[in-house]
Formats: sequence, structure tokens, C-alpha cells
Amino acid sequence: MKDLFRKIKKVDKLLQLKEFEGIREIYSDSYLMDSIKLGISITRKKITEGQLTDEASIDSSIISNTFKLITLEQKPKLQKVLNCTGTVLHTNLGRAILSKKAKENLYLLADQYSNLELNLDTGKRGSRYDHITDLLKKLTGCEDALVVNNNAAAVLLILTALSKGKESIVSRGELVEIGGSFRIPNVMDFGGAILKEVGTTNKTHLFDYEDAINKNTALMVKVHNSNYTINGFTKTITAEELVPLSKKKRVPIYYDLGSGALFDFTAYGINEPTVKQLITSGVDILSFSGDKLLGGPQGGIIVGKKKLIDIIKKNQFLRAVRVDKLTLSALEGTLLEYLDMEKVRIDNPTINMLTISLEELKEKALLLSQMFKQEAIVFSIKKINSLSGGGSLPDKMFPSYSLVLADSEGISIPKIVDKLRFNTIPIIVRVKDNQLIMDLRTIKDEDFKMLVAEFSRIYHGEKL
Ligand SMILES: *Cc1c(COP(=O)(O)O)cnc(C)c1O
Repeated sequence: MKDLFRKIKKVDKLLQLKEFEGIREIYSDSYLMDSIKLGISITRKKITEGQLTDEASIDSSIISNTFKLITLEQKPKLQKVLNCTGTVLHTNLGRAILSKKAKENLYLLADQYSNLELNLDTGKRGSRYDHITDLLKKLTGCEDALVVNNNAAAVLLILTALSKGKESIVSRGELVEIGGSFRIPNVMDFGGAILKEVGTTNKTHLFDYEDAINKNTALMVKVHNSNYTINGFTKTITAEELVPLSKKKRVPIYYDLGSGALFDFTAYGINEPTVKQLITSGVDILSFSGDKLLGGPQGGIIVGKKKLIDIIKKNQFLRAVRVDKLTLSALEGTLLEYLDMEKVRIDNPTINMLTISLEELKEKALLLSQMFKQEAIVFSIKKINSLSGGGSLPDKMFPSYSLVLADSEGISIPKIVDKLRFNTIPIIVRVKDNQLIMDLRTIKDEDFKMLVAEFSRIYHGEKL
């Protein structure tokens, strides 16, 4: 063993081996030498454990360890996965995916300087928010707009800017936890706003709001019930119903919409008021996520009255949640497509997946199952329900078609599911009652071929 250790070459000698010639054009010698050192330590361990006893294979062992280490280390850990769950806005899988146009816009700007804060007309300093303000004005009817890092930041910013040291009225039915321990009462507290709870969990009346208004009232806050529903003996006051009271008492309404929709989904059975409808009805300020129903990048979009947005723009906290140019470029690309509401339904992946017809899903299921059949894998086609996910449309079921594989002789569903997840391009499926389910809603046609190839390799490997 000692003898074998002595046969291990010095790091700089190993680096000179012809096997490293190619990779030395990609990485620096110092990085490679660090990697070779790690490669040596693995080989030493193998010698100690008696797995390597042949002097002639020491070099090749070190070389192969080093290449494996580099390949593993250089592979981004954040990577593409195939979403076969049918959940369109899957929080664990990154919520909304970008449209082609948003992606192109982002790509064009990524390695270039831009006029982010330069007004090209005047040559003077501009504002990063101006680039999307006109678009948002047209799409929502707002007077002014602002974008921050995410909607959680928007909520905190709005509350601290407009209600610090003053009361914000919220119905007890809307004191929600959004996820990741982001709770409305705590956020209010954190932002220095004084929470004035009104009504009860199941019922809040207009007089509850009216009775709560006093000299120190800054806002009436509505919070979208994004991730829960209250059924039965209930009463809530909609934002629209609050408008006359708001006008009479001169207390502005802020609506945390969560997943604000710019697209009108009513024709597709989704009853979600659009941001434009809410602004038209008189809501003063609204905030919503960029990567929920909008189908764009992560962001918190604030729209509403100029007077209020001006106050928010002056708040110190804005700087801490300032939106990045890459987000803005993807958001602008996303919003531009909304100028044509017919086309955005096709081009925006989120809207497209949420409004795709059952017939189309059935066709997709038939095609994919045919492709699997050619690889000797027989799925049954079943109707199921998909979810929108990501804290949006909690009680809405979307009828869909899926391919279903049951546990059977020689194959184990849990094992296949794990292997699919461990795959080079991880494939994420649903499992229910020991059945593997792939919902066609979120599987892109362009991924069919790859899905079938990868799946069948794993399936047939597993079966043997
Ligand atoms: C999702 C959600 C948020 C948080 O938005 P992010 O963009 O995830 O930060 C805030 N409020 C409501 C009602 C939500 O549904």
C-alpha cells in the first residue's frame, strides 16, 4: 500500500498528462490542479480500502476522478425539469415560465448596457420604472405604476409607506398566511402599520368597515383569498362595495390581489376580476405578482393612483426591494404581448395552459400515449383535474387528461418515480394510489420526444 502511495505522481506532473490537454483549454491550470488534488484524495482512499491494487491504473483512476468531480461541480444545480404534474403555477417548480418574447427580451439585454435609468429623449437621468409605466397604464387603466422584487415586498412597501403609525382596516376573514410564514398581521406589524381587525372569520359587513374608520385610519385593505376558501354561512365585502365608503370617508382602498390577472378569464370559467376592472371600479391601489396569473418573471407590480404611488416612490424601503433590469426586461416582453389579448392567450404559456381546451388535451394524451406504445409502454388515458397552483384560484378545478401507469408485475412505481427525478433532465410526475400520473396540461409538445426517450430508458432499465 505504502508503495502504491509513492507511485502517485505530483500534481503538476499529472496536469501535463495528454488526457488533460483538452480541458486545459477550458479551465485554468490552478483550477485544474485543485481538482486533481481532490481526484488524488479519492484514489488514495481507494488504495487504503484495497479497491485499487494495481500500480498501472493509478493515473487513470486519478484522471477519471478529476473529470467526474469537474463535471459534477460545473453543472448548475438550478436546472430545467419537466413538469408533468399539470399544476401550471407550481411553486416548487418555479411558478410561471416565460413566453418566447419575454425570454428574447431578457436574452438581448443580459450582456448589454441599457438605458435603465437614462432618459434617451433628454439625456438626463431617467427612472427604471418608466419603461413599463405606459404599458401598465394602457393594460390596467392605472395612473401610475411601480415594480419591486416580488409581491411580498410590494405589500410590505405599500403598508409601510401609506400606513406607518396609522391604522389599516382588514377583515378577520382575510388575515391570511400566504406561505413561507408571510402572514398579513405580522407583515403589518413589521411595516409599522397598525392592524385594525374588523368583522369575523366568516362574516364581515360594510358597517364593520364604517364603524372602524377614525382620524388615524390610513387604508382599507383587501387581501385576496389566494390559497383558501371560506364556504357556508359567509359574507364578505368586495373591493367594489367598499368604494362608496372609501369616497365618503376619504380612506383609500388597497387590494393585495396576489395573482392579479390582466387577461379576462371569464370565458374560460375562471371568475377572477381583472386588474383593469378593479381600477375602473375605484380601487385606489393594487399589488400583484409577476409570476402568478400574469405569467411573467417574479416581481411585485404596484398600480393605482399617482398621488399614492408618488408617496410610495419616496419611501426609503423601495431601494431595498428595487427591481433588477433583467426582471424589467422580461416583464416588458411579457406585457407587450398583452397588447393583443387574442394572441397573448396563445403566446403566454401560463394563460395558454390554463385555457387550453379539453379536446386539445385529449389529442395531446392520444399522441403521447401512441409514442409511448411504440416504446412498448402502455399507459391508460384518464380524465383528471389539474390545479393552477402557486397560491392562485384555490377552489378551481381544471378538467384535464392524463397518462396513468399502475404498479404491475416487475415494475415498481415508487422506484420509477425516483429515477425519473434523478434523471439528467429531472421528470416530475404525480403519484396517487401507487399510480404514476402525467397530466398533459403542463407538458409541452416540443418535449414529447425527449420525455418518451428518457422515460422508456428508465422504465425498461427498471423492468429488468
Ligand atoms: C402570492 C401572494 C403574495 C406574495 O406574492 P409573491 O410574489 O410570491 O411575493 C402576497 N399576497 C397574496 C394574497 C398572494 O397570493
